[in-house]
Amino acid sequence: MDYIFSLEFIYLIASITYILGLKMLGHPETARRGNLIAAAGMTLAILGTIFLYQGEVATHIYVLIGIAILIGTIIGWAVAKKVAMTKMPELVSLFNGMGGASAALIGLIEFQHYTGETLSTATILAGIIIGSISFSGSMIAWGKLNGTIKKPFRLPKYNVVNNAIFLVLVIFAAYITWSSSSSQLYLYILFFGALAYGILFVLPIGGADMPVVISLLNSFTGLAAALGGFLYGNMVMLTGGILVGSAGTILTFAMCKAMNRSLVNVIFGEFGNVSENEIENDSHSVKGDIKKTTVSDVAILMNYSQRIIFVPGYGLAVAQAQHAIHELELLLESKGIEVKYAIHPVAGRMPGHMNVLLAETNVDYDKLAEMDDVNPEFQNTDVVFVVGANDVVNPAAHNNPSSPIYGMPILDVENAKQIIVNKRSMKPGYAGIENELFYNQKTSMLFGDAKAIIQALISELKGM
Ligand code: NDP
Repeated sequence: MDYIFSLEFIYLIASITYILGLKMLGHPETARRGNLIAAAGMTLAILGTIFLYQGEVATHIYVLIGIAILIGTIIGWAVAKKVAMTKMPELVSLFNGMGGASAALIGLIEFQHYTGETLSTATILAGIIIGSISFSGSMIAWGKLNGTIKKPFRLPKYNVVNNAIFLVLVIFAAYITWSSSSSQLYLYILFFGALAYGILFVLPIGGADMPVVISLLNSFTGLAAALGGFLYGNMVMLTGGILVGSAGTILTFAMCKAMNRSLVNVIFGEFGNVSENEIENDSHSVKGDIKKTTVSDVAILMNYSQRIIFVPGYGLAVAQAQHAIHELELLLESKGIEVKYAIHPVAGRMPGHMNVLLAETNVDYDKLAEMDDVNPEFQNTDVVFVVGANDVVNPAAHNNPSSPIYGMPILDVENAKQIIVNKRSMKPGYAGIENELFYNQKTSMLFGDAKAIIQALISELKGM
């Protein structure tokens, strides 16, 4: 019975909830519940740590902890409640930065308590370096995503400079450890050095690459938390940190793979920063005429189709058109037309963006087809309706070796009998490049805001 009320047992339960929660996040149907289960486990771990701690704790410490939890809960709740789906990467970077800062602060406080203990000091200093990089890097990422920091900032030879700074930080931390120094000055030099490195590391990276960078920084925060867990011999912190660290790493590489880019290319490359000049001077620049269409023509086309595939992209999220597209789907199905959604792994601005968005409207999960499954089906499809998607359907990924997206797996929508593309203008998407799909003989452009267009389509179709 005693064991049940012990901290070890509570930590074991909490660790199990993290693993279960993470597993459940893997499917849209269970993701919400998984998130709640892991959050409940985290609450349990926090309460257990506070109330089952064996040492002496002054009352005012409990009061301070209570106030901190209250402030954090109110801010976290309020911000998460009102954030738009398209702003989610921003929120994640902010929260992630706070995790990194916490890990670094633990190191700053604990350093003086472990002087002379080589392994503990090395753990603390590694936690300070990684946590600080994660904090300052995430803050820059946040500034880039919300548009405060507009252009990538690059020092001359920034990649060499950055690597040199990182090397100096590691050597300096090794020196502090081996010399058993207790110098607070050294400690703060290391701390501010790591903060500066985090800033210099993220500043040169294009704003559009931020989701990948955030995922990478997320894995850093996990690692920093795991180091804290190792220092305290705290199993739940260790498990949580390792899970965040490994999930962040897997996600980073999965995103790179889906964009057909290496991590080095994301960190040192130029993707997403193509200037309009470069687009015009591109020898593969697409020339030709586009065909415009109208809502009533598309409604007629859809009404007489048997199979339609929707391809949602970032623009659908911007327009908040997820409810409208679900309504259109139900309406078409009520007319006996087969409808599916083709989901590209990096459609939108964060992993699983389209799945989460469509899950919000209760779209049947069986209707969400993954890229590899749906690609062979396009040739038997009467109409493909591309809504606010651009790069993920750009054939340059197959045909143009000089394109920055060459080699990226795409949805092969050009194999369908008719292609309708909805967007507001001819402006490029995230990769900043032209899309020859728009000039395809089978393509008709339906210009306008996704939500307004879909709603107009619904009223046309209702009258048929
Ligand atoms: P894109 O960014 O390529 O294209 C989105 C299109 O939506 C734009 O061309 C835009 O055209 C249109 N659009 C914007 N607002 C609206 C609106 N209100 N109504 C209708 N259309 C609108 O998006 P994709 O989803 O095709 O591709 C995602 C890109 O993001 C890929 O390059 C991917 O690599 C990248 N990325 C994705 C990540 C992820 O995890 N999902 C992470 C990092 C990067 P217009 O302005 O003319 O309307």
